[in-house]
Amino acid sequence: MITEKSKQLFEQAKKYIPGGVNSPVRAFKAVGGKPLFISKAEGPYIFDVDGNRYIELINSWGPMVLGHNHPEVREAVVKAMENGTSFGAPTDMEVEIAELITTMVPSVEKVRMVNSGTEATMSAIRVARGYTGKDKFIKFEGNYHGHGDSFLIAAGSGAITMGNPDSPGVTSGTAKDTLLAPFNDLDKVRLLMEANKDEVAAIILEPVAGNMGCVLPEPGFLEGLRKICDEEGIVLIFDEVMTGFRLSKGGAQEVLGVRPDLTTMGKIIGGGMPVGAYGGRKEIMEFVSPQGPVYQAGTLSGNPIAMAAGLAMLQHLNKNPGVYKRLEQTGKTLVEGIQATLKRLGMPFTTNSIGSMYSLFFTDRKVKNFQDAQTCDTAMFGRYFNAMLNRGIYLAPSQYESLFLSTALELEHLDRILEANEAALKTI
Ligand code: PMP
Repeated sequence: MITEKSKQLFEQAKKYIPGGVNSPVRAFKAVGGKPLFISKAEGPYIFDVDGNRYIELINSWGPMVLGHNHPEVREAVVKAMENGTSFGAPTDMEVEIAELITTMVPSVEKVRMVNSGTEATMSAIRVARGYTGKDKFIKFEGNYHGHGDSFLIAAGSGAITMGNPDSPGVTSGTAKDTLLAPFNDLDKVRLLMEANKDEVAAIILEPVAGNMGCVLPEPGFLEGLRKICDEEGIVLIFDEVMTGFRLSKGGAQEVLGVRPDLTTMGKIIGGGMPVGAYGGRKEIMEFVSPQGPVYQAGTLSGNPIAMAAGLAMLQHLNKNPGVYKRLEQTGKTLVEGIQATLKRLGMPFTTNSIGSMYSLFFTDRKVKNFQDAQTCDTAMFGRYFNAMLNRGIYLAPSQYESLFLSTALELEHLDRILEANEAALKTI
């Protein structure tokens, strides 16, 4: 594998762009710091600027669930471009996509389009605060909800009453309104609710976590959160930026059978364009401006090119329910293959998976929360990542990410991934 051009571009990029990249994980810092610069992607493959081809298991961090450059999405974008790239005024496509979202995700009765998952979660929390008149919210350690100030909070001592900022620039005033609990820990949530009586507006979580690796909710966890929110009259927010339109047409909430009050969406909803959305119960969404008092706006929100891509993507998923059976089968084949290899090699590592999301954790512990995930041997993950890359398989460059499969993966690709996996595991 020659990566000379990537290397040169990275050196040049570092002169003009902080860290050489426009989003931190792309710098491959956790796996040796030699990012690949990409020239194109098609179906199951991504190509770097040196002409190497890789089988894709990230898929732009989730959006490309149909594989790269899907003809229906591409054609919709090209057609929309003929009419101009932005109007800053309502269009028919926005009505169509909003209606489609409400049929695919029944808990969403009204929806507002934004430009990223970050905007979706920031806005959802603001609406929840406006609706309840309360300031605090509960989030879970290891869940990621974008880079809004109030979400960049790690666990600190005294977390029952106060969070500590994760990043310089987030004020302690902001951090104190973010309460933290371990994922899958209902008792801690109850304790937080008691200690902050009548101050909590919402509970937000990834119903299936993807940002500490793939971590599933334990039976009863989501139901328990639903019950607490009902009892307290507060807002349950599912952040389905990763899981929405991926685990099923209706996202994780459909698969797991728990209905949130608000849902945040991103990634697949834009077909690869910068799109996010938040929506939910009419009564809550009617607090959003101009219908209600909670302000939220966007020059490029509902942009016609982005809507065309998103609409083509969602229409395809809505009309072809077989997509989800196929994704599930692909995930099952791959994860069972990896488990069989681990057993054969006598490696006691853990896999977590659901549908087309999975993680291989380099720990022998069950991974149910962030603390478990942190027992992983991240140096070993780094060796595994590079061994896979050298064999033409493009993984997420961190132990703490889920992988995302696409419908473009055929059996021949799965065989190649499993062969590479076995060979890579033998070298680490
Ligand atoms: N929520 C979740 C669950 C995410 O995974 C992400 C991004 N990976 C975000 C929110 C933020 O989305 P964006 O990067 O589009 O701002």
